[in-house]
Amino acid sequence: MSAERANKFLPKQKSLGRVAIIGRPNVGKSTLINRIIGKQVAIVDSMPGVTRDKKILTANWQGADFEIIDTGGWLASGGALESKISEQAEKAAKQADLIIFMTDVTVGVTDEDLAVSEMLHRLSLPVIQVVNKADSSSRDSEVWEFMRLGFGEPVRISALHGRMTGDLLDRIVEELRKIRPEVASELDQSMLSESESEAAFEETLESRSSFSVAIVGRPNVGKSTLFNRLIGGELSITHDEAGTTTDSVDTIVETEIGTLRFIDTAGLRRKSRIEQGTEYYSMIRTLRSIDEADVSLLVIDGTQGVTHQDQRLAERIDAAGSPVVVILNKWDLLSTEEKLKVNEEVEDRLAYLSYAPVLRISALSGLGVTRLWKALSDSIAAYRNRIPTRELNLLLQQAQAKSAPKGSKILYGVQGATDPPTFTLFTTKELSPGYLRYIEKQIRERFGLGPTPVKMRVRRRSGR
Ligand code: GDP
Ligand code: GDP
Repeated sequence: MSAERANKFLPKQKSLGRVAIIGRPNVGKSTLINRIIGKQVAIVDSMPGVTRDKKILTANWQGADFEIIDTGGWLASGGALESKISEQAEKAAKQADLIIFMTDVTVGVTDEDLAVSEMLHRLSLPVIQVVNKADSSSRDSEVWEFMRLGFGEPVRISALHGRMTGDLLDRIVEELRKIRPEVASELDQSMLSESESEAAFEETLESRSSFSVAIVGRPNVGKSTLFNRLIGGELSITHDEAGTTTDSVDTIVETEIGTLRFIDTAGLRRKSRIEQGTEYYSMIRTLRSIDEADVSLLVIDGTQGVTHQDQRLAERIDAAGSPVVVILNKWDLLSTEEKLKVNEEVEDRLAYLSYAPVLRISALSGLGVTRLWKALSDSIAAYRNRIPTRELNLLLQQAQAKSAPKGSKILYGVQGATDPPTFTLFTTKELSPGYLRYIEKQIRERFGLGPTPVKMRVRRRSGR
């Protein structure tokens, strides 16, 4: 479940303040919002002319709520880009307590960036400058160019891959606390009762009756066939329910692993399909159902192999932060060589979903379909897993005894959140990405987190 939806179960708490993310088109504002909210709320790559609504979204970090203004739509109307961006900055200034000024390391400092930075200096607003698309440390030296915009050392992140976004969130909360100390102290007071609300939250989760599943994939890969097989077998449809978006219909079924809600399934159930609309809108529908889902089933046509479009869908699912089961369908039609080839393609092209279980099935004949229930229930369990701190730290000690990090030490670790499991490691120095992957792998294996994405964060503790 996304952070946003999880928050629904928590008592409403006061917001620390409002943050606006501004910057040129394409620097990655929507991607960052999606990453923070954990949900594909802002539509990335929107078609020209499709205006996005102005949205105010609630984010939660380290127990504190703050609001994010999605300024994406503000750039959509006519006029010269430079003046529109300045307008965007001015508008944001009126509404926000803190500005995230986003730039793009792959493009460097542009005239528009300079214009915005001058405007921000003139308005003397609190600003955190972010340099996005710093996907690997090889980009780090290029970041210094951005110092000339005059906001101090920029925070370098990769919104797409989540690199350093936790640190950015720390900075945001820290700045907001400084800007609105009265709200911060009020919050601290109410945090005293936090453990109570956390217990209430856990309880709501457990009593929450259904778990949402999205079946996604390109046209003709076999989604309908799979869906009808799933609901046709030993299962009975309990009822249909209007989905969260106006014209979508969800199917609720009782299964051996509990109540499942299959999202937006009207088109999958009927033999004569309802008009799916343009490819663009069916894509939007698909993205929405991924956002809604607690787990996604990514159906791939084995006879076609892993296509570019499959990869893009996989990226979206990954960015949504919920677990995924990869389903290679039409396995009955493949020769031994073709099977080997598809397996290789999965390894190469879906490498970043390597945590996901891969099932080889024939939706048409039913071969392998029953294994899906086990994969689904494992995903559900892993996603909601909370590992006791003592056991986590025992594992961290053992992992370091087996292979110590170079020049650093993990002092201790905590699991800060579930859905998906998020771990914070407190260390003396930075950990190398390789070492972090090693630790993640150890945690996954020991605690059986197989099919769910896991987030890892590192915090440096000075003076040790
Ligand atoms: P916006 O117009 O500022 O909202 O930008 P988007 O969020 O729509 O991103 C524009 C493009 O940049 C999309 O294709 C994103 O996938 C890509 N992008 C965003 N963040 C990153 C990143 O950290 N690294 C890389 N390589 N690409 C990114
Ligand atoms: P959707 O557009 O993704 O919902 O795809 P459909 O479920 O309508 O399937 C498209 C076509 O692929 C239909 O003709 C199905 O009969 C066929 N199909 C689906 N699954 C399988 C399978 O596992 N094996 C074979 N041989 N054909 C399949």
